[in-house]
Amino acid sequence: MKQTKKIMKVLRSKPTIEGAGVRLRRAFGYYEVPLLDPFLMLDHFGSDNPADYLAGFPWHPHRGIETVTYMIRGTVEHGDSMGNKGVIASGDVQWMTAGSGIIHQEMPKRYEGQSMGFQLWVNLPASRKMMEPRYREVKKDEISEVPLAKGVHVKVVAGQLNGVKGPVRDLVVDCEYFDVSLDPHTTFEHPVRQGYKAFAYVFEGSGQFDEERERWIDREHLVIFQQEGDRVRITTGEDRARFILASGKPLGEPVAWRGPIVMNTEEELDLAFEEYSNGTFIKSGGKKR
Ligand code: FE
Repeated sequence: MKQTKKIMKVLRSKPTIEGAGVRLRRAFGYYEVPLLDPFLMLDHFGSDNPADYLAGFPWHPHRGIETVTYMIRGTVEHGDSMGNKGVIASGDVQWMTAGSGIIHQEMPKRYEGQSMGFQLWVNLPASRKMMEPRYREVKKDEISEVPLAKGVHVKVVAGQLNGVKGPVRDLVVDCEYFDVSLDPHTTFEHPVRQGYKAFAYVFEGSGQFDEERERWIDREHLVIFQQEGDRVRITTGEDRARFILASGKPLGEPVAWRGPIVMNTEEELDLAFEEYSNGTFIKSGGKKR
């Protein structure tokens, strides 16, 4: 029986200062654990004032997670301890598995107009936290827009829609990541497994995110869906809507989180920071895929 997931909670993203002084909006993070398991954090950056983002995110470590950077408009230069170096340009995605540890920097470049991008953190299960780091660079052209009903445009980064598979595959945690644009008066329905966690983060326009259609959710708001139900259904009215839609299988494991490192226990965190300060943090040069 088809049952649409109901809304569990709606949160407004909060102005936050990160990195070396980047002003961004945090949709969810440390204080929301474990509400979005297997996801840990979603940051929404975007500004027409370069002073808000040029300080960037200089060299810092990660362990135990994946970071997914999606630039809608704008460019981020990056470099890491695996020897990767490059730019994430408008429409590109970087899906980086920190695993046992990487040290990297992420530096937004000056952009004319309103820049816009997202960074999602996906947790890794205990059994894979110390896996070999890996890194996937996905260019704009590799992300197909799946033809659906008129006025419904979906870019599939990871997961499957209408037989189209996104370019990011072989994921550690089973999850999907879509960029959905809906014209006024359209509906998008998508299966999300019973028991899976799903969220939508609206960054343009507004829409209704449950079948009851009792409330309008507008930009800079996060919709967290209940795990019960096996699909999500979003409808627009007079306004259009654009949002990130992600879903994944919860890990159900303890979360120990300090700054850029997320493990299962305090001891593992202590060890990670000790290794970082004594120069033994990097376990593997990783592999480029
Ligand atoms: Fe980072």
